[in-house]
Amino acid sequence: CASCHGYIRDRNIHEAFGRHWHRKCLRCTFCRTKLDQMCYMTARGKLCCRKDHHRLSQVSCASCDVIIARGVPVHRVMGNIYHKRCFRCTQCGDQFKVGSHLY
Ligand SMILES: [Zn+2]
Ligand SMILES: [Zn+2]
Ligand SMILES: [Zn+2]
Repeated sequence: CASCHGYIRDRNIHEAFGRHWHRKCLRCTFCRTKLDQMCYMTARGKLCCRKDHHRLSQVSCASCDVIIARGVPVHRVMGNIYHKRCFRCTQCGDQFKVGSHLY
């Protein structure tokens, strides 16, 4: 079994992603939902359910952790993505004036 490395009896075997799993071991890494029908794998090679796969494939704000919807203004800084409204100094709360007009 690719998850628990235990021996699998034939009738409990489940094949997914070219590996073998106990049926009971085929669960979402994040919410522990059983993955009998729909299995997905994250970019990091972890099993997950459809819901979590969808969640992980979306980009979330590095400041507030809320998923960034399409069309919302964002700032990209050093590989992180922020909502425009979240992109502010963590010390004084001042919003940085990146991309705005110079006075
Ligand atoms: Zn197992
Ligand atoms: Zn899940
Ligand atoms: Zn945010």
